Amino acid sequence: MVTFPALFVSHGPPTMALDPGPCPDFLRRLGAELDPPEAILCVSAHWETARPRLGAAEEPATIHDFHGFPEALYRLRYPAPGAPDLARRTEALLAAAGFDCATDPERGLDHGAWVPLTLMYPEAKTPVTQLSIQPRERGAHHLALGRALAPLRAEGVLVMASGNATHNLSERGVRDAPAAAWAQAFDDWLAAAVEAGRADDLVNYLETAPEAARNHPTPDHYLPLLVALGAAGPGARGRRLHASFTYATLSMAAFSFA
Ligand code: ZN
Repeated sequence: MVTFPALFVSHGPPTMALDPGPCPDFLRRLGAELDPPEAILCVSAHWETARPRLGAAEEPATIHDFHGFPEALYRLRYPAPGAPDLARRTEALLAAAGFDCATDPERGLDHGAWVPLTLMYPEAKTPVTQLSIQPRERGAHHLALGRALAPLRAEGVLVMASGNATHNLSERGVRDAPAAAWAQAFDDWLAAAVEAGRADDLVNYLETAPEAARNHPTPDHYLPLLVALGAAGPGARGRRLHASFTYATLSMAAFSFA
């Protein structure tokens, strides 16, 4: 059986599920190029809990966790089966690593999960579940969370972390505006740190990256990247799979860690 890379993708605004663009094109290609996984564990920026939680629903609902977008987005459903067995397996791995975690039989799929999955796996046949992030914990917690997930990659599971490489919404421009210089600077730093395997710098991004607090006013869209990095194991280097910007301040960069 193949060992899957751990992925980090930028999910952008929910309209990416419907609009054309370089990032949706990339995600469609990525889904077609990867070996088909038996199940997907998505670590989304949009499920925040105090302690790690795993979705264990048999048929997870599509959660429309956004406001003010076109009506067509609210009609989209991602009817993939749930992955309660994967949730329990992951819970056991996290418990063995010392995490106080639990499963949630009600949790559906938020747009951090279903927007990229709609593009990557439009047939929605592969079972999928989610693992939450803990924004009140620091970067090292999320790296350790990822480290505990590493065995899954050899068990047919695609670990897919979903956030945004840069995520300043209050200073965003129009959709096709060029990247803001300070967002580009963070994005360049991120790609270099990932490709050099500088895990300590990535964990301590608030001290080491240029304009970190401006690009990530809150940590939720950055922390999933550390889970993907951790899932690749100690000393891992990543590879940038995609680079583009939208709305001037949203880097849509994607990385593969193996
Ligand atoms: Zn988001």
